[in-house]
Amino acid sequence: LEGYRTERSLTLGDIFIAVKTTKRFHQSRMELLLDTWISQASEQTYVFTDEEDDALKRRMGDHVIFTNCSAEHSHLALSCKMAAEFDAFLVSGRSWFCHLDDDNYLNPQALLKLLSSYSETWDVYLGKPSLNRPIRASETLPNNQTKSVRFWFATGGAGFCISRKLASKMVPWASGRNFLTTSELIRLPDDCTMGYIIECKVGGQLLPNALFHSHLENLQLIPTSQLIQQVTLSYGVFENKLNVIELSGPFSPQEDPSSRFRSLHCHLYPDTSWCLQPVGW
Ligand code: UDP
Ligand code: MN
Repeated sequence: LEGYRTERSLTLGDIFIAVKTTKRFHQSRMELLLDTWISQASEQTYVFTDEEDDALKRRMGDHVIFTNCSAEHSHLALSCKMAAEFDAFLVSGRSWFCHLDDDNYLNPQALLKLLSSYSETWDVYLGKPSLNRPIRASETLPNNQTKSVRFWFATGGAGFCISRKLASKMVPWASGRNFLTTSELIRLPDDCTMGYIIECKVGGQLLPNALFHSHLENLQLIPTSQLIQQVTLSYGVFENKLNVIELSGPFSPQEDPSSRFRSLHCHLYPDTSWCLQPVGW
């Protein structure tokens, strides 16, 4: 059989998963993720935060990365974290970079299935478009003039993935301090900056994918039977109301209120010890 080689199939180990968080969400959001989906993808998941935390370090070891980024919701602070995520991916040698917020539930097997239908050697940028049209921005040119630009971008709150081939082309604008410089050129948040680099600088394009979800869409509209096929889900506020997936159990809405992630996790992994006999049953 010498000379014949089949392409090696993709495994979770080929994916670098970056979760962005901040000190004030370590307990309220990260504990939930660690108890649920991160337990199924702990080897490839890295958390990027802004303050040392022994409890988080105890659970994650060197998979929690304390950036020196400030704990603010400013464009610069958030871009600082995205830059740290991107740089850590570059040195990891893995084939795919996927970014998530700390209010996302990721289904690692669904992600694996999705990425398996692409190749890391192609330019791939997958996610949920933030708007139903390209965003317009004004780019500052070196002579201080401005240029109007249009591009699509994947909303960071739904998670997105980038192939290594595409990421390597992004290095001049996205690695190290370059990400912050680029982000300042268009004065938009980190996820927009990613789209700008990919579409306006590298010449790639966003492949919209309906399996990524943020809380800026009505999550109740996803049929319960299809929840387990989604790559990402979320929870949070949308149009001034709590926006959460529709799932009846096994936990009651009192036991698993704001996200329903514990119930979702039990649908995906019914053998989990705490799924067998939820508190209150
Ligand atoms: N976040 C952060 N620093 C902040 C505020 C938020 O890193 O000062 C992170 C947060 O942990 C989450 C993402 O940014 O991963 C989005 O935050 P959030 O869900 O609170 O806001 P949204 O943009 O969804 O309204
Ligand atoms: Mn959010």
